[in-house]
Amino acid sequence: MKCPLCKGTMKRGETNMPYELKDEKMVVVREVPALICSQCGDVFIEAPILRQLETILKRAEEEGVILGFVKFREAA
Ligand SMILES: [Zn+2]
Repeated sequence: MKCPLCKGTMKRGETNMPYELKDEKMVVVREVPALICSQCGDVFIEAPILRQLETILKRAEEEGVILGFVKFREAA
């Protein structure tokens, strides 16, 4: 896959995704599998991973996390 921004090569890697939830709560999901551009660093996350992220965030909200760090592999 080519980077949509610079046409560089996208490589498999991991990234950290910070999310702001309502009421100024925040969750950082760590080590999310992603495609990362080797040229400009743009990050692309595939649809199945995004769905898992949504589940993780929903769970964090239900648990009342105010500031949380979650490892993707352990939570998904
Ligand atoms: Zn790029």
